[in-house]
Amino acid sequence: MKIFCIGRNYVEHIEELKNERPDEPVVFMKPDSALLRKNKPFYIPSFSSEFHHEIELVLKIDSVGKNISKRFAPRYYSSIGLGIDFTARDLQEKLKQKGLPWEKAKAFDNSAVISERFLPLSDFGSDPLLFRLDINGETRQTGSSLQMIFSFDELVSHISKYFTLKTGDLIYTGTPAGVGPVKIGDRLQGYIGEEKLFDFLVK
Ligand code: MG
Repeated sequence: MKIFCIGRNYVEHIEELKNERPDEPVVFMKPDSALLRKNKPFYIPSFSSEFHHEIELVLKIDSVGKNISKRFAPRYYSSIGLGIDFTARDLQEKLKQKGLPWEKAKAFDNSAVISERFLPLSDFGSDPLLFRLDINGETRQTGSSLQMIFSFDELVSHISKYFTLKTGDLIYTGTPAGVGPVKIGDRLQGYIGEEKLFDFLVK
């Protein structure tokens, strides 16, 4: 399976990192060894001292597709999960300044937290998806699918121009504002609406 991630998909997050607003989706990938499941703890790796949380809605792909038009994109997904795109921010800044790929800062082991449960999108109808990250009981990031620059359908269409989508592939759809560092002992809890989808510790 493949893990796609979208960068810079929320205006206020672009501003907090002083990035430019993209005119097409910023896409990068993580390997399957990046997945952190079942509320297992995130052990802070040794190669950076600044790991940021980025809470993100995660689309799961239901069927194989290539060159999917925006109009037909809804046929390729039906459920939504919640994850964290952990980022070694100091390392990413160095790599960005040098114009180098981000993988070491973004795609390392356990950098892709994923909820065990995915919620059927049909449960939400046309309502926006509201989600949040609490750390030690305090809300740090909140987002709404309405704030996304590129919609789910636009992302599926765009990614499938370059990569064949397969059943089980995941798309991390970008983080809203409020990213920041985690530290040992933190407890991270993620919600869509009032459904708690993950709850784990940083060690
Ligand atoms: Mg991200």
